[in-house]
Amino acid sequence: MKQTNLLQIAEARKGNLTEEVRAVAAQEGVSPEAIMRSLADGTVVIPRNRRSSTRPCGIGKGLRTKVNANIGTSMDVSDLALELSKLDAALGAGADTVMDLSTGGDLTGIRRGIRKACSIPLGTVPIYQAAIDRAKSGGIKAMTADDMFRAIKAHGEDGVDFITVHCGVTLSSLERLKKEGRVLDVVSRGGAFLVTWMIVNERENPLYSDFGRLVEIAARYDMALSLGDGMRPGCIADANDRAQFQELITLGELQTHAVREGVQVMIEGPGHVPIDRIEENVKLEKEICHGAPFYVLGPLVTDVAPGYDHITSAIGGAIAARAGADFLCYVTATEHLGLPGPEDVREGVITTRIAAHAADIAKGFASASRWDLDMSRKRKERDWEGMLKLALDPRKAQKMRASATPRVSDVCTMCGDYCSIKMVEEYFKKSQIPNPKSQSRGLRRSTVLDRRSQANPPPASFPSATLRTSGAGRSKTRPSAASKYRA
Ligand code: SF4
Repeated sequence: MKQTNLLQIAEARKGNLTEEVRAVAAQEGVSPEAIMRSLADGTVVIPRNRRSSTRPCGIGKGLRTKVNANIGTSMDVSDLALELSKLDAALGAGADTVMDLSTGGDLTGIRRGIRKACSIPLGTVPIYQAAIDRAKSGGIKAMTADDMFRAIKAHGEDGVDFITVHCGVTLSSLERLKKEGRVLDVVSRGGAFLVTWMIVNERENPLYSDFGRLVEIAARYDMALSLGDGMRPGCIADANDRAQFQELITLGELQTHAVREGVQVMIEGPGHVPIDRIEENVKLEKEICHGAPFYVLGPLVTDVAPGYDHITSAIGGAIAARAGADFLCYVTATEHLGLPGPEDVREGVITTRIAAHAADIAKGFASASRWDLDMSRKRKERDWEGMLKLALDPRKAQKMRASATPRVSDVCTMCGDYCSIKMVEEYFKKSQIPNPKSQSRGLRRSTVLDRRSQANPPPASFPSATLRTSGAGRSKTRPSAASKYRA
């Protein structure tokens, strides 16, 4: 456990270099001062419970786009061993964070099992536990505000690093939802528990009306709040309506309060959004929530592709991240169809990492562009071993290459003897046509970006901090090629 009582935001405001800041600065190639400034003003979060020894991960302004993988049981499929294999799949595929969204079986035991095994930041949704525990004795109507806060405290005690709390599901947003006449009213599970509770009890959401109590609990553990979007649109027809934006306005107000109290906050976002409306969602969030890290679920850009929603969400995720979203929650191919298995988790993480990486190139991260440049050079050299090592998903690339052996080893079975790269290269050689740009053209963008990132190096005189060893449990990390291009 950390040997300090100060919250990370408080440490940053005092100018104290913590191990979290130091680790994130090193991972991202950003100066510790820049990270501290952003932590202090709420534009970056490093979700890490005082009780956890998870590997620090920075999310927000000026940092690479991060990817979350949701795992967790359901009432129909509840098996800790299966969840741990999904966790392995998520870690192996390079997820930055994991959320346990369990709703079936022994929720406490499953959460603790996942926490113990998880080396990266872990998030949960405590309202699931409050509602499901109470459903066994009296139903959701009987759930009390104390049940909700007790569940939040229990998750803090167990070392959860960030929690989704649907504080913007208020009587006011509910009223707007009713007036909207949506196609799909509420698709968020946490949102649905709260809406049901509010309607049957004719009461305001305690996570909103008693937000100060929530902030106090979060502060006790330095647990980050991910202010959930219970009113998110669940289909294209419902995107960008008044219920959604009423909730966003409320979340912005709550973010101000929590950050003032030193509690880290992210804002969750939609949902299902057509491509042409994604950017405005991001811009509004950044305006209304004062640049708080934006954590988007997808967004899915069409409703008609069940079985391929890892792709519909990656399209939306890339556009959202390009527009400024900081954190992409993956969606798996089984979305809208069933609970994902380990292979769905693996593919979901990889697909979302492609979206995040594509956005990072456009956001101007030198390391992201360098990765692509290195891959292109390997292609030019027809260095298959090098290409496969650099692949974002080396496993799949190796499998495909192995299953399609060409007659000539330095090409592939797509064009064979008519390999365009090889033909033109040979023609250039024969004709002795010089290619002065072969090295410099692709480099131009990276060189500029490299200079930009080097302009703000960490000062040599910065005080050192004792680094805590990252926690026990599964230690799989991003594949090595990806790690090389992190900063
Ligand atoms: S054979 Fe065609 S697809 Fe294969 S490496 Fe050459 S140009 Fe590319």
